[in-house]
Amino acid sequence: MSSKSPIGIDLGTTFSVVAYLDGSGRPITIVNGEGDLITPSVVLFDGKSAVVGKEAVKAAVMEPELIADFAKRDMGSMFYSKKVGGQQLPPEVIQSLILEKLKNDAERKLGPIGKVVVTVPAFFNEPRRKATQDAAQLAGLEVLDIINEPTAAAIAFGYQVGFLDAKGEARKKETILVYDLGGGTFDVTLMEIEGSEFTAIATGGDVFLGGIDWDRRLADYIADKFRDKHHGFDPRQDAAGIQRLLKEAEDVKRTLSARDQVAITFEHVGQGIRLPITRTEFEELTADLLERTRFTTRSVLKEAKLQWSDVTRLLLVGGSTRMPMVQTMLEEESGLKVDRSLSPDEAVAHGAALYAGLLLARQDDSPDKPSKPAMSVRNVSSHDLGVLSKDPVTGRPMNSVMIPRNTVLPVTKGKRYRTAKLGQKNIVINVIEGGDSAGRNSTPIGRCTIQDLPDDLPAGTVVEVYFTYGENGRLKVEGRLPDLKRKAVLSIERASGLNDDKLDEWGKRLKAGRGK
Ligand code: AMP
Repeated sequence: MSSKSPIGIDLGTTFSVVAYLDGSGRPITIVNGEGDLITPSVVLFDGKSAVVGKEAVKAAVMEPELIADFAKRDMGSMFYSKKVGGQQLPPEVIQSLILEKLKNDAERKLGPIGKVVVTVPAFFNEPRRKATQDAAQLAGLEVLDIINEPTAAAIAFGYQVGFLDAKGEARKKETILVYDLGGGTFDVTLMEIEGSEFTAIATGGDVFLGGIDWDRRLADYIADKFRDKHHGFDPRQDAAGIQRLLKEAEDVKRTLSARDQVAITFEHVGQGIRLPITRTEFEELTADLLERTRFTTRSVLKEAKLQWSDVTRLLLVGGSTRMPMVQTMLEEESGLKVDRSLSPDEAVAHGAALYAGLLLARQDDSPDKPSKPAMSVRNVSSHDLGVLSKDPVTGRPMNSVMIPRNTVLPVTKGKRYRTAKLGQKNIVINVIEGGDSAGRNSTPIGRCTIQDLPDDLPAGTVVEVYFTYGENGRLKVEGRLPDLKRKAVLSIERASGLNDDKLDEWGKRLKAGRGK
């Protein structure tokens, strides 16, 4: 087996999957050290070492304070939402431990692995994308690129279902709606596949909606019934009680995907409850969550200026799409039959491996270069990119959108500034993503400072700032002084995540922990 096999990693909120391309270019899921195809994205901090996956899940009930799960939801924040083992950790570090475990599992099968593609939700903003790349770097992985999960799913689908011919081209134009409801995130993406071009035309989603929200709803239902029965004694009062409630809720939820009714049994500190629940009752309890996904799906169609009748295939990805309510709602909404031919757990990792294969083939100039499909992938930006300034008239904050969401990537937009006074040395620009016209509810990307402007620069000198979103949604900012025909020195002080020094420091700490 070649250690240069292209590798794709689906770094999921609840589960992660790693796949490689075999000699004939077929994506294969790698079985982990425990013998499973999927690895729970859960880390147990056991004294000095970290345990990832199934063992960590088992420990979660007994030692919830040592467990980090759902860290993907916190990517792009300074710290993971709770202290683990008394420590405040950046989410990148938790994710890097998961990636490291996947890397080790892959290396057990393939030998030292080369470059990888890691997937991110299409709706991830720029700081979350950066944090994902940083986590991979901390794990000692060489990242070829990141790719959006729905795009990866569409690639895997095209490959597996065979609407692509041998050259990787679609036989006819397809408009695919990818509905991805995972453990902790929800995405809808409309993709067009024409010939060998995969183009995302619109995307939308919710980083705070996924299977866990269905679990929490059911856990609250169980806890309320328990409290009613046991005179106000609430199992949610301690962390272990919450963990066990969530575990029972998830089990019940999964069973209700296959059966119409199930008996919930829950015990806490010597008290117990047993109550039946039907699938219909569960669907009523969680109807508003499903409605949120319907709303997002409709808005994405609207933004793409498409009708359901334009959609040729409806693709479901993510473990939570196994809930029958999802399929029923989508079929009723669209009049289309849902395509379930793809393994919802593996599709994204397979697509990522296929994409890694494509990128490696592009980089490979050797004469015996394998003949790969000349597939090309184009994405759109998932959030408005804006500059926050003060309205000169009212003095109120003002968001000037430079690159509107759903713009085809890569894209570069420039903005002109003028120095205000003679000898001005710096210009500071606040860059944001999303938000309204006053910048409310936006994500701060950071402060860009154009530094070290030449001495004695006259007032009113033009400074141009160029914002580039790469194909993968990562941002680059450059400054130019057109009158002087030179580049300006520019630095970004990021509002969140790990800066280069911190990355270095964590890299060293993690390496030392590995004994290398
Ligand atoms: P993913 O992140 O795509 O692996 O999705 C994981 C989510 O899928 C978790 O919230 C699981 O509880 C959920 N899930 C997996 N299997 C089922 C099932 N049979 N019925 C309902 N939800 C499921």
